[in-house]
Amino acid sequence: MANRVCMGNEAIALGAIKAGVRVVSGYPGTPSTEIIETLINEKDPNINVQWSTNEKVALEVAAGAAYAGARSMVTMKQVGLNVATDPLMSLAYIGINGGMVVAVADDPGPWSSQTEQDTRHFAKHANLPVFDPSSPEEAYEMVQAAFDLSEEFQIPVILRPTTRVCHASATVMLGEVPALKPVSGFEKRPEWTIFPALSYKKHGELEAKQRMMSDKFSDLKFNRLFSGGTKGVAVSGVSYLYAKEVIGEFGLDVTLLKVGTPYPMPEKITEEFLSVVESVLVLEELDPVVEEQLLIQSAGRVPILGKRTGLLPWNGEYCFESVKSALFSYLGIKAEEEAASVLPEFPKRPPVLCAGCPHRASFYEVKVATKDVKKAIYCGDIGCYTLGNAAPLNMVDTCLCMGAGITVAQGLALAEPGSKCIAFAGDSTFFHTGIPGIINAVYQNTDITLVVLDNHTTAMTGHQPHPGTGRTAMGKPAKALSIETILRACGVEHIATVDPFDYETAVAAFREAVDFCGPSAVITKAPCIFQMKRPETVHRVNSSCIGCLKCIKQLGCPAMTPDENGKVVINGSLCTDCSLCSNVCPVGAIKRGDRNV
Ligand code: SF4
Ligand code: SF4
Repeated sequence: MANRVCMGNEAIALGAIKAGVRVVSGYPGTPSTEIIETLINEKDPNINVQWSTNEKVALEVAAGAAYAGARSMVTMKQVGLNVATDPLMSLAYIGINGGMVVAVADDPGPWSSQTEQDTRHFAKHANLPVFDPSSPEEAYEMVQAAFDLSEEFQIPVILRPTTRVCHASATVMLGEVPALKPVSGFEKRPEWTIFPALSYKKHGELEAKQRMMSDKFSDLKFNRLFSGGTKGVAVSGVSYLYAKEVIGEFGLDVTLLKVGTPYPMPEKITEEFLSVVESVLVLEELDPVVEEQLLIQSAGRVPILGKRTGLLPWNGEYCFESVKSALFSYLGIKAEEEAASVLPEFPKRPPVLCAGCPHRASFYEVKVATKDVKKAIYCGDIGCYTLGNAAPLNMVDTCLCMGAGITVAQGLALAEPGSKCIAFAGDSTFFHTGIPGIINAVYQNTDITLVVLDNHTTAMTGHQPHPGTGRTAMGKPAKALSIETILRACGVEHIATVDPFDYETAVAAFREAVDFCGPSAVITKAPCIFQMKRPETVHRVNSSCIGCLKCIKQLGCPAMTPDENGKVVINGSLCTDCSLCSNVCPVGAIKRGDRNV
């Protein structure tokens, strides 16, 4: 046994190692990414870890390993589960052999996501059990219990940490890792192949498992009843910690039910809870999943209060203050007037592409190349390059989900034939879900231009590799798939590959691609600046600057600021010497210079 300070995601990874996981696959997505990053850093030769091309692929890889009797885990963020839902639903019916955990991190807030969706609904929808950890320590233990449960009932189990659990750190007591059990191997059985008659039978079995698991859950330590007064409080996930803190600090007399497995509900323990309280307040982030199940179970015997009664908001993260305010209002306690804490005025800092980011150059060049187009629509996508929407670039008119820039552009082009639709996709997004959209554009001969912003990495989530990078998650060399070759194989006839910092050539390539009638593509290749060595030179503004501010107004590079004389200075510690600004200055005032001058 050893104590270690762990982030929640590390605790999940270490819990999986202790549980004997053999195969882990996933797609990077905040707040889940560090689960796989930790497993990569652990370099355990018994575990095969991979960044898959998307979440559906990752889930299917993990399912195959579990068919063969290996313990497997798949990781993703909540929106990633949308991509993986198809195999997940069928897998619930088919079942597995080795234990399989589906770790899906939810993002109340949301801090870095396009939705605030609640994975517990997916668990209910798919008839799969879900564990909802309240802390890193509990996440470490829950992942092990989830593997055991999965193997016992031969179905995948969802682990659903939220941002605050994933990214908080705590001291976790790590147990000894037992010797790995051998993998039984795949046993051929007709049940591995889903057919209507089989799914009818399996559906019945799946429903029966829910009841058995509910009974089992009532005895799990993750579900607990803390006896107190007749006022009941039911909590799920990280809200448990906030409630415990408020109850402890103000000495509140309540009976507390901690729900660690929100689906299926541990009905024996919840029944015990409902029989001793006169009302219940439910505290849970995102949707009223526990609240609604308690409402059904209580069948009017006990009032159930929470989001549905307006005591708590449906959106955003909870915190000590919001839980305190809900508890006080539920218990009829008048909060003492506290001196309003005066928060300092934070400087406004809108999200912006980094200084020297190659995407800035690509966006700007597309803008220049399309300035005479009657109506150009720019279809963005998910990644760092979504930031191309900000002024002064204003180059993202739509952004829906991974890979959708390419397909939304096609829909727009069909609806508005006179417009020119330009879709942007990063290299990782291209492999994730971009390719089927490109095939569709070629098949339907839709007139769009695809710009693949290839910075040789999955930058937004922390530089994970992908099939185009030539290395695996474990750092081994791999075949680097060529985006250009794939585009050609998909049938795209007009393809150009350019360096976005070769300004004139890039603008000309974009013009040609936009003029081409039918699907065309330009691949802009330049590494993310965080993967480059610091250059020895930078750009400087000399005395011929006329203060027109064209450089700032058109590019918005954060290395450039106006000085007190109305001219421009370049911050040498930020400048990456990309030279984009020198193409914009009308009087040639921006030149390369020595970094140390
Ligand atoms: S060269 Fe110009 S555009 Fe490039 S990072 Fe430096 S200041 Fe910014
Ligand atoms: S574009 Fe050139 S002249 Fe105008 S402010 Fe920038 S550096 Fe000065």
